Amino acid sequence: MAHILPYPGMNLSPAELLDWYDRSRRDLPWRDPGVTPWQILVSEFMLQQTPVARVLPIWREWVLRWPTASATAAASAADVLRAWGKLGYPRRAKRLHECATVIARDHADVVPDDVGTLLTLPGVGSYTARAVACFAYRQPVPVVDTNVRRVVARAVHGRADAGASSTVRDHADVSALLPNDGSAHRFSAALMELGATVCTARAPRCGLCPLTACRWRLAGYPPASGPARRPQPYAGTDRQVRGRLLDVLRDSDTPVTRAQLDLAWLTDTSQRERALDSLLADGLVTRTSDGRFALVGEHR
Ligand code: SF4
Repeated sequence: MAHILPYPGMNLSPAELLDWYDRSRRDLPWRDPGVTPWQILVSEFMLQQTPVARVLPIWREWVLRWPTASATAAASAADVLRAWGKLGYPRRAKRLHECATVIARDHADVVPDDVGTLLTLPGVGSYTARAVACFAYRQPVPVVDTNVRRVVARAVHGRADAGASSTVRDHADVSALLPNDGSAHRFSAALMELGATVCTARAPRCGLCPLTACRWRLAGYPPASGPARRPQPYAGTDRQVRGRLLDVLRDSDTPVTRAQLDLAWLTDTSQRERALDSLLADGLVTRTSDGRFALVGEHR
């Protein structure tokens, strides 16, 4: 069957992708009508380094408890850290709290809608700024995460994987694909969804893919040229130790002693010290006047 392609040289059909997206997208609550830009921004903070399944329950509780930036800003830093739970990379929670404070104070409790102003907010980088502009305000800006890079590498460039990232090249790649008929925000969500659910890194399910002119498939799946990327381990890392120490502090209504923290990680004392020092340096944990430890801002 012949396909009419909207852009010369481009083989990725927005119509195919959008039809598939309308039929097959996951029912994710931050995509529902009525979800505010602030609540979408919260989802983007959480999704930066955490899978959807783990984000879902935390996001739902979060937006019920703190539906606006000002509500989040009024919460204590310790409450925000507790609510972050086990999403990992807890510096994001601190940055989200700071971001809420700036939006409430400097932007009348309204998330800015342009990428330039979004980039001035604490914790908002290139990806998050564009994701919020696109998904909350329907702006036709390129939103490029690892899933999008992989789909573009395969479908458009005929390569097995995307290789090293380059913000300028990646944005140019995706900008060239965006439809200019008002559907760019849906197209971006669809591209991301395809990478997350069908064109996955290890086992692309090409039989379910809507893209009939994928260059990698048509070329017979040539292998990647670079070394295979290994998944990052978690067990035994400083990240795991930091998580264990934070668990002790989250579970306690009162400051805890160093001996209580020591029990959280007995394997390697120097690693435990390093993790605790980094939590103190990151401002996630404080030392009380009597030498015990607490979540930031919770006790003195
Ligand atoms: S045909 Fe296969 S490799 Fe190509 S975009 Fe679809 S899922 Fe990915």
